[in-house]
Amino acid sequence: MIPLKNLDAYLNTSDSSSHACRSGCAACCIAPSISSTTAAMPKGKPAGVACVHLNAQLLCKLFATTKRPKVCSDFGFDLDVCGKNREQALKNLNWLEEQTAS
Ligand code: SF4
Ligand code: SF4
Repeated sequence: MIPLKNLDAYLNTSDSSSHACRSGCAACCIAPSISSTTAAMPKGKPAGVACVHLNAQLLCKLFATTKRPKVCSDFGFDLDVCGKNREQALKNLNWLEEQTAS
């Protein structure tokens, strides 16, 4: 399973040329599967499905709460994964998910 991002960086600029998490991207809340469970996701999150905890702005509703899975908090922006735009991030994360799927 692929760890998810630290959404702290959502507070950063949405400039796609920056090396910081892009607000409204949420590729890592969609492409990977998550084995961690929450009350709203008792079986975790399947790959390729938007997390139920995303709000309309594609921000994590559990951000800064103790309910947010640790795997999400542990993942931060990584240019090799996130690329320069959302499309690259989705492509990379989908590829990684395929490589790690059991
Ligand atoms: S894939 Fe990368 S840029 Fe997109 S939301 Fe996750 S950490 Fe941020
Ligand atoms: S819990 Fe929050 S950070 Fe984790 S996948 Fe869902 S929306 Fe993303």
